[in-house]
Amino acid sequence: MSRRPVIAGNWKMYKTQADTRQFFAAFKPLVAHSRHCDIIIAPPFTALSVAVEAAAGTPIAIAAQNAHWAREGAFTGEISMPMLVEAGCRGVIIGHSERRQYFGETDESVNRKLGAALHAGLTPIICVGELAAERDANLTHAVLKRQFEGGLHALTDADFSRILLAYEPIWAIGTGRTATPEIAAAVHRFLRELAAKQFSPECASALRILYGGSVKPDNIKGLMAQEEIDGALVGGASLDAKSFAAIVNF
Ligand code: PEP
Repeated sequence: MSRRPVIAGNWKMYKTQADTRQFFAAFKPLVAHSRHCDIIIAPPFTALSVAVEAAAGTPIAIAAQNAHWAREGAFTGEISMPMLVEAGCRGVIIGHSERRQYFGETDESVNRKLGAALHAGLTPIICVGELAAERDANLTHAVLKRQFEGGLHALTDADFSRILLAYEPIWAIGTGRTATPEIAAAVHRFLRELAAKQFSPECASALRILYGGSVKPDNIKGLMAQEEIDGALVGGASLDAKSFAAIVNF
């Protein structure tokens, strides 16, 4: 089955509003004719409005990097999914490994956030991935199965068909150590098998699975040549307009 590619940038805690304006001014002309894939950019919360304004009239979708599951409430420092929608976001990253590692994100909170994102009409980008020690101990499949089943339980086929899944091996994030296209593709195949156990075969085969972990202009082509790799979630290399455009235009 042919699945439309998705290239997503995760800016993490980088870029002010001024940086964001500069980025879009440089980036938009470089992708003005790029119609072969979906383009998503996830800036920090404070730059969302500037990014939404800059991306207006283009196919670039703006996403947030996290949000709370409640619609509103006494949760100091948090942002809700409907607030993101009002701010012009179309998607939200959920369960990024940095949230799991440093901010106590669990499969249970991923599941609650996923439900809230779908309810709000956002496209959730669900991240899963194993630590280096887990890969070395041959636990990659067990970890991914736990994250997939824990994060995605109680979803209908219709809900599942709206999500993007990102496989991000933690040992490859920001380390310069990319999984080879073959390693990534094998894991994507495993994730699709998990999807087929829980959802219909049509949903499983339509699921778009992004690879993330030190994706750069010089390795994107090899990754995208794999039938099982439907796109990329890009951290560091998404901060520079030229390098992110080169990835988009793989
Ligand atoms: C990420 O943060 O999702 C990521 C993949 O980062 P990097 O591309 O910098 O490894």
